[in-house]
Amino acid sequence: MLSNSLIELDRAHLVHPVASYRGHERAGVRVLRSAKGATVTDAGGRELLDGFAGLWCVNAGYGQDSIVEAAARQMRELPYATAYFGLGSEPAIRLAAALAERAPGDLNHVYFTLGGSDAVDTTVRLIRYYQTVRGRPEKDQFISLDQGYHGSSTVGAGLTALPAFHAQFGLPFPWQHKIPSPYPYRNPVGGDPEAIIAASLAALRAKAEEVGGPGRVAAFYAEPIQGSGGVIVPPPGWLRAMRDLCAELDILFVADEVITGFGRTGPLFACSEEEIVPDLMTTAKGLTSGYVPMGAVFLSDRVYDAIADGAGEAAVGHGYTYSAHPVSAAVGLEVLRLYEDGLLENGRRAGARLLAGLHGLAGHPLVGEVRGRGLLAAVELVTDKARRTPLPAAADPARRIFDRAWDNGLVLRAFGTGILGFAPPLCCTPAEIDALVERTRRTLDQTLADPDVR
Ligand code: PMP
Repeated sequence: MLSNSLIELDRAHLVHPVASYRGHERAGVRVLRSAKGATVTDAGGRELLDGFAGLWCVNAGYGQDSIVEAAARQMRELPYATAYFGLGSEPAIRLAAALAERAPGDLNHVYFTLGGSDAVDTTVRLIRYYQTVRGRPEKDQFISLDQGYHGSSTVGAGLTALPAFHAQFGLPFPWQHKIPSPYPYRNPVGGDPEAIIAASLAALRAKAEEVGGPGRVAAFYAEPIQGSGGVIVPPPGWLRAMRDLCAELDILFVADEVITGFGRTGPLFACSEEEIVPDLMTTAKGLTSGYVPMGAVFLSDRVYDAIADGAGEAAVGHGYTYSAHPVSAAVGLEVLRLYEDGLLENGRRAGARLLAGLHGLAGHPLVGEVRGRGLLAAVELVTDKARRTPLPAAADPARRIFDRAWDNGLVLRAFGTGILGFAPPLCCTPAEIDALVERTRRTLDQTLADPDVR
């Protein structure tokens, strides 16, 4: 049994990310003790199916011995090497080369970070540098999407469009702007893909004009599927249309693949699905499957060469102590091997089964929409299907749904007014996917019976 003292120590000392501090103190921590495959075990010995792969990151599943061995081997041999002073390590160099080979188009240059937030920060810094050294320093405005998520650094949180990341933090910065999300289920122009694409194109043009014209805009950021905003899947063709407009307006197009990268939607990168080559691409999470922290920024030849030529012999002043960490890189190489040794394929099969299973819940009285791609999916709940009325926010439906699913042996993500998010590990078996769907159905039935949520 979990000793009460651990709960007390957590309450007294551990500050949790994106949490109500007082709410967490009241509820107390739920401690996880161990995990294997897609199953996590809590401190009381209860097993739960992890339908969210930690925080959409443990794509390879837990307890993969070959990953543990790769990390241990590297730790024994060379636990740390700086990439400053012109130094390097073999795993970091090999991982950069392997990623460049697999990335879309000419994204041939890789900058390693510690995670997604500093990957996004890195893009903002390098984009400002790029625009300056090419003689366009006035291109200093950045545009992203409503419902977008681009991290929790001060700069990234400003690109993020979630209200809790802005209020009280003095964000966004005046140079950070938003345009509406393509959100097919709740788009004022309706659900027609052509209309949604046209509206997004018009919105980007209009926002560029509003900030002084495209000549003022440095970059536009988009997730191929919006994750933390509620797993919002843009219509097919949307990504390509936005990418093409950015090229036309001389605005850099940044694909934030921190969630969608590394098999989450099927292929290694979601951009490949629409044959998009962004100017920059951010990744993290599945890069190391969450076993150790690491992110990676991909730069196109054009962006890299302009920075390199612009800097000349001067140092480009951007770096982290843990840039290109050898242990993280060794883990990344082994995780990449696993993806290509059947994991991506299993993920695609599991994803098709997951979406079919969740679509089987569409007739449930609370289900407004089922959406997703690969092993990234959402079920959006409503109290009135015709009006698409969200569950009452005052009842804190996300908390209730998360707690019920937990009691049913399922870890899922519950957003805002009742969007259930799923991102299970790519190693899931058919039986695990079926159990996930069944436990979701039970959670929905219990939510329907809850008078406060109707
Ligand atoms: N970008 C996207 C699209 C993300 O989903 C996240 C994290 N959920 C981040 C950036 C930030 O990554 P991290 O939490 O590793 O800093």
